[in-house]
Amino acid sequence: MDKNWKIETLAVQAGYEPQNGEARVVPIVQSTTYKYNTSQEVADLFDLKAPGFFYTRLANPTVDCFEKKMAALEGGVAAVALSAGQTANTMAIMNCCTCGQHVIASAALYGGTVSLFTNTLKKMGVEVTLVSSDATAEEIIAAARPETRAVFAETIANPALTVLNFEEFSKAAKELGVPFIVDNTFPTPFLCKPFDFGADIVTHSTTKYTDGHALSVGGIVIEKGTFNWANGKFPEFTEPDKSYHGLIYTRDFAACPFSVKLRVQWVRDLGFPMMPFNAFLSHVGLETLHLRMERHSENALKLAEHLQNHPKVAWVKYPFLKGDDQYEMAKKYLKGGSGVLCFGMKGGKAASEKVMNSLKLAAIVVHVADVRTGVLHPASMTHRQLTDEELVAAGVLPEMVRVSVGIENIDDIIADFDQAMEQV
Ligand SMILES: *Cc1c(COP(=O)(O)O)cnc(C)c1O
Repeated sequence: MDKNWKIETLAVQAGYEPQNGEARVVPIVQSTTYKYNTSQEVADLFDLKAPGFFYTRLANPTVDCFEKKMAALEGGVAAVALSAGQTANTMAIMNCCTCGQHVIASAALYGGTVSLFTNTLKKMGVEVTLVSSDATAEEIIAAARPETRAVFAETIANPALTVLNFEEFSKAAKELGVPFIVDNTFPTPFLCKPFDFGADIVTHSTTKYTDGHALSVGGIVIEKGTFNWANGKFPEFTEPDKSYHGLIYTRDFAACPFSVKLRVQWVRDLGFPMMPFNAFLSHVGLETLHLRMERHSENALKLAEHLQNHPKVAWVKYPFLKGDDQYEMAKKYLKGGSGVLCFGMKGGKAASEKVMNSLKLAAIVVHVADVRTGVLHPASMTHRQLTDEELVAAGVLPEMVRVSVGIENIDDIIADFDQAMEQV
C-alpha cells in the first residue's frame, strides 16, 4: 500500500496485498483456529510477544484485511471489527471509561445509541449526559464532571440529519483531555474523515454504507493514534495490566494502545467479534464505496429537490438542500450528504403512509444505506408506541418518511415517487 494513494485507490487496493501465487481476491478464512509446530510459538502469541492468529474470537486473517482497509480509508493506525454497530459504540466507550465515570454526547443520535446511553450504560455504571447538537464548546464543557472520560457524537445524525459541529465538540474534548469519539456511519470516510476535524476514535455501523448491500450486520472502531492516554486520566492505559503479566498499553503498544486494549481486554473477555464471512462481504463492499457514495449523494439531492417542489409535500430535510438549516455545516465538513433524506406530506400521517404503500420501486424496509431505495415511516414502525404528541417531542413528526435513496437511475426513482404521490 502506498501512503499517498487517494481514497478511491485505497478503497479498491488497501487491506489485502497478495503475495506471489496467492488468491487475487481477499480469501475467506472460515476457521476458528490455526496450526502451529511448537507450543512455545502459541505461548508467544498468547503473551502478545509475536503477531499472528491463534483463535478467531481475537483475530482472523479475513477480518484483519477488512480492519486494515477501514483504518486506511479513515486515516487511522488500527481498527477492531466487531459483530454490530451497537457493539462498536459500546466497546469504544467502555474501553476508556470504567464504572463510576461519565460521557458527554450530542443529543442528535441514532435511537439505538440513545437507548444504549440512557439505559444500558447506566446499568454498567457509566452515566451519559446529552447536550444539544448546537451546544458551544463552553456549554459542552459546562456539562463535564471530574470523572468525564469521553465526548461522543455522530457526523450526520440518524434520523435527524443534523451535521456535527466538529469545531465545538472537538474543542471541548481537547480542553477536557478526553477522547472525541465520532460515529461516522452515514458519511463513511469517503464523504467525511472525522480524524481531519479533531476526532480521536471513529466508529461505524458497517451494516450501513460500508457493506452497502444490506448483506451483513457489523461494526468497527478505528483509532487515530495521536491521543495522549498518559495525561493522568486513563491509568488503565499506563499501569500494568495484571491479566497480561504486567503489560503496559502505552509503553508496549505505543502506536495503537486503544485498539490493542480493546481487543485483548474487551473482545477477549466479552466476545462479539466480526465473523470472517461478514468481513469478506464488507471488504468487497468497500471496493465500490467511492462510486456508491457519489451516486447515493447525487440521487438523494435530486430527489430532495424534486420533492421540495412537489405541491403535495409539506417539507423536505436533506443537509445539502439549499436553505436547509444544516447547509452551511454540511458544506464545511462533507463532500456529499449520503443517500438519506426525510420528508413529510401536507396530508399528514395518512398521506405519508399512502405514499409509502403506493411505491413500487422503493421498498418498505427497516434499514438504511442500501444500494436499493427503501423507505421507513418512524411513526408507525420504530416509534409506533408513541402518541402524536410524543412523536413531536421525540423529533419524529407523525408525517415523517425517511428515504434511503439507492443507486438506481434517478429518473426511475423520481417517477416512482411521482406515481405514488398521485394516489394521495
Ligand atoms: C444503525 C446504526 C447503529 C447501530 O448499528 P447496528 O449495526 O445496527 O448495530 C449505530 N449508529 C448509527 C449512526 C446507525 O445508523
